[in-house]
Amino acid sequence: MGELEREATELLQRLIRFNTVNPPGAERAAQEFLSEHLSAAGFQCELLARDDARPNLVARLPGEGDGPVLCLLSHVDTVLAHPQEWSHDPWSGDEADGFVWGRGAIDMKSQTAAEVAAASALARAGWRPARGELLVVCVADEEAGGAYGAQWLTQEHPDRVRCDFLVNEGGGTVFEHDGRRYYGVCCAEKGVFRFTVTTEGVAGHASIPRMGDNALTKMGPLLQRLADRQPSLDVGIEPRELLRRLTGDDPAADGDPAAAIERLREADPLLALIVEPTLGVSVTPTRIRASEKINVIPSEAQLEVDCRVPPGLGEADARRRIEEVLGADGYRLDFHETVVGNRSPAESVLMDAVSAWIGEQDPGAETVPMMLPGFTDSRWFRNAFPECVAYGFFPQRHMTLHETAPLIHGADERIDVRDLGFATRFFHDLPRRLL
Ligand SMILES: [Zn+2]
Repeated sequence: MGELEREATELLQRLIRFNTVNPPGAERAAQEFLSEHLSAAGFQCELLARDDARPNLVARLPGEGDGPVLCLLSHVDTVLAHPQEWSHDPWSGDEADGFVWGRGAIDMKSQTAAEVAAASALARAGWRPARGELLVVCVADEEAGGAYGAQWLTQEHPDRVRCDFLVNEGGGTVFEHDGRRYYGVCCAEKGVFRFTVTTEGVAGHASIPRMGDNALTKMGPLLQRLADRQPSLDVGIEPRELLRRLTGDDPAADGDPAAAIERLREADPLLALIVEPTLGVSVTPTRIRASEKINVIPSEAQLEVDCRVPPGLGEADARRRIEEVLGADGYRLDFHETVVGNRSPAESVLMDAVSAWIGEQDPGAETVPMMLPGFTDSRWFRNAFPECVAYGFFPQRHMTLHETAPLIHGADERIDVRDLGFATRFFHDLPRRLL
């Protein structure tokens, strides 16, 4: 095991042992630990906090002259874990069978450990950017939306975290298709347009079914429509390019994206499962409520639907697609969250550097732009700094997308130690290429 890999592995083990399940997060101890590590290596570190218990770490390595700022971003909070479902304690940070085990081993303390180990090694060896600046930013509160983390930091302290290039979570795990190896670079994220469907009726005593007008049973047909189909596709540039590269079928020209995804499904069901929602607006009903009492016929019922919308499309587009599924009558629709999707151009100096590195490290493999069905903290940076090119990229070659995808937020989350070394070498190399 090389020195870089050893440093990243030990950092990851230590990080996992800080319980940063959000809520409440309680990230301070982990952030102080990282701050000390980076300060000792030569970084200028600051802890910036909206809540004293939940600081964000900004570590800076200035260069000799003016130039671009490269920011290595990660979050140190995690989702919860149920220890009884795990074969290792989720906060043990155990190293066993070639893996580091624990909550955050993939999402995303591994990337924090790789970025911090790589940046520290560079600084300790005396490397400084020839131009520009290297930033390492570790935020709190990603898993609950970033109100104490990236959102707050980019809005309240934009001068501390302004950057031209950003590398964050969201992509980089290898997958194979048709004998070729691909590394997805996450260039875009869908927006969130959550809404409530309300049906109305007349209250009455439940012992006399025809007395009132039951708002809940009116949900039956609406739920069935949501079960039967998704809206028509709105294929954006990243999934179009991905399908073209994987299937040879160009949905922009004469191709049929629905047919292309079916062909992909035959070859690789899991890959199709992940790519499919990026091809258009998606609607997923998640919660329903009606009468407060079991003996009262409800006069109102409410169904909540999690709706995700490709970047470039807004509320009117979302409503049009939803009405295509639900029809326009018999209910009321209210959006209660409307966040437009975001993206960075897939062609950039940063993409060139990522692709060149992959080409050298895994000959024959290629990078390919991808869209995330969910979102990450990249959206706050893209909002605050429109010129910033932000990608999700954490290269992993030993564990494939098929192995890592089910572990995210799941039981027995773990990372192959060789991948931690692989990613750390990437973060060690990237600043020297760009700055
Ligand atoms: Zn994450």
